[in-house]
Amino acid sequence: MNRFLDLAAKQAARSGCRYLVGAVVTRSGRVLVTSCNRYRNSPGIDFRHATFHAEEMALRRAQHVHGAVIHIARINRAGEPRLARPCPRCISALVARGIIRAHYTTAGQPGVLYLT
Ligand SMILES: [Zn+2]
Repeated sequence: MNRFLDLAAKQAARSGCRYLVGAVVTRSGRVLVTSCNRYRNSPGIDFRHATFHAEEMALRRAQHVHGAVIHIARINRAGEPRLARPCPRCISALVARGIIRAHYTTAGQPGVLYLT
């Protein structure tokens, strides 16, 4: 794994969710924002068991991400990389914010998704 996927894996380890996912947004080799997935905690709406995906959390925290790259890692409880390809909803959100590329862990070699 490259160093940003490593950093994303460290973020994933901080998640309190069932699936451990972390994300790092970078531009020109510099980290803009890090995040992990989180449970939505708004009582009264029917989202108690749903999560904010790590990509959504990163986009909520970052201001200027146009032209940036996102690195997404999922790890299992043993800390081993697992498939973290962004879901269709997150892909749409990443495209809308101008993220140009997504690198993500798999159980083997990392994958890459070109978004432009
Ligand atoms: Zn997603």
